[in-house]
Amino acid sequence: MEGKLMDYQTDYLIIGSGASAMAFVDTMLTETDATFLMVDRRPKVGGHWNDAYPFVRLHQPSSFYGVVSRVLGREKIDETGSNKGFYELATGIEVLHYYHALMEEAFIPSGRVKHLPLCEYKGDGRVVSLMSGESHNVKVNKKLVDATHIEVQIPMTHTPRFEVAEGVACVPPNLLCRLAPEYGHITVLGGGKTGIDSISWLLDNDYPADKITWVVPRDSWFYNRRKWQPGEALFGEALELLASSNEIYAAAESVEDICLGMESAGNWLRLDKNVWPTMFHAALVTEADIVKLNRINNIIRMGRVEAIDEKGMRLTKGEASSLPDTLYIDCTASALSNNYKDFTPVFQQDQINLQPIFVWQPCFSSALIAFIEANIEDEALRQAMTRPAPLTDTVKDYLTSQAHNLMNMHHWQEHPETARFMTNCRLHAFAGRIANIRADDHEKQSQLQRFGQSAPNAVENLFRLAANA
Ligand SMILES: Cc1cc2nc3c(=O)[nH]c(=O)nc-3n(C[C@H](O)[C@H](O)[C@H](O)COP(=O)(O)OP(=O)(O)OC[C@H]3O[C@@H](n4cnc5c(N)ncnc54)[C@H](O)[C@@H]3O)c2cc1C
Repeated sequence: MEGKLMDYQTDYLIIGSGASAMAFVDTMLTETDATFLMVDRRPKVGGHWNDAYPFVRLHQPSSFYGVVSRVLGREKIDETGSNKGFYELATGIEVLHYYHALMEEAFIPSGRVKHLPLCEYKGDGRVVSLMSGESHNVKVNKKLVDATHIEVQIPMTHTPRFEVAEGVACVPPNLLCRLAPEYGHITVLGGGKTGIDSISWLLDNDYPADKITWVVPRDSWFYNRRKWQPGEALFGEALELLASSNEIYAAAESVEDICLGMESAGNWLRLDKNVWPTMFHAALVTEADIVKLNRINNIIRMGRVEAIDEKGMRLTKGEASSLPDTLYIDCTASALSNNYKDFTPVFQQDQINLQPIFVWQPCFSSALIAFIEANIEDEALRQAMTRPAPLTDTVKDYLTSQAHNLMNMHHWQEHPETARFMTNCRLHAFAGRIANIRADDHEKQSQLQRFGQSAPNAVENLFRLAANA
């Protein structure tokens, strides 16, 4: 039968073909002459981006997302909107196109990558076609690479944890653009990035603010996107973010001190100064985004939604009535995998578990893991360079991830080849610029010094606070 699966042999069997898998294979193609078999349940590369809502964008600049070998976007600065003055954020479609083009134009033509879409990895080298049901064995010469560790829950594919009565319109944001004009009121459920994106899209498209209700079960701390800009113009602010963060981590007496310190340094933002956030998913927003989001007056902070019927919502801390022609937008998917708190080692015998080793930077992390796999044989050094820095749900989770991140960074810098890789790696937002700071640029040299000097105390204190939090 044409297209029928057969048994395979490969150096690396990669489970998943999302952003993590693509960044790993890309760097391995440059650093080795190995072969790769990439298996994914989805029909196309790009992982969760295949099921994203139409108005999704990256929340970090495109210029440090994707893979090392290919620039994403045009590195232009936005001239309008709430990202005005800052580097462009790729749309979901751009991200997908980027990965598809990379597969078609670079990976497949290399002759070293085979991609099996619509196939599921079942363990023990067994791959099953979701279309034909045929099962095939893969002989792995070197390693199995699990690129599903971060697998995020997104609205289109998750199962909501609340009941919806018959006749109530509750849909994922994927349907918002189509249905919004048909409803007199819209209630957005969820205070994370997807909720923010949905509110922003409605406001940008002139849906009246007073017809929008926003259910925010937990408020969130956000990174200030101003401090995460790759260009020279704001590089001083990025360095100040690094230096001041370490000083705050080192001096804090409590988790609250960290939050307040980060806020007063301008590193973190929140929606409302009178509400204490507990969530930390490291979404990046601008101050203009906060101003825009504050146009919504009807914010319900009564915990999570438990049930919706024609009269309104039951939440964990009360009830809220709704008008009859209300469209509910489900933005409650957690954006974290079920095992996000799992500190499984990256290098584990014949398996590599791709996960962040630089907190909230999955692309850079996977590329660097590939570089380490290809170039460093010393097992103790590998482990020291790759302490997991998992994605975070709360500020408390962030403490350990950030401490591991700083410890990893120390080992990367101490190893000349790795330091050189980082300097030339487009996925590291600042390494290249840091390496090129002029000796007579006293301000930046002093920021760099502050960052390095406070790092050991920061690590120690982050662990102490995590243990007591
Ligand atoms: C809306 C949104 C915006 C984001 N913006 C940013 C951003 O700006 N910057 C940033 O760094 N991060 C961002 N993220 C985080 C994002 O999750 C990561 O950047 C990245 O896309 C995660 O990729 P991944 O490959 O690890 O996981 P996924 O994209 O989830 O890919 C995992 C793949 O594994 C496949 N799979 C799982 N199990 C199996 C199996 N047994 N057999 C076969 N295949 C399997 C799945 O089908 C899936 O395609 C964003 C996330 C969301 C939801």
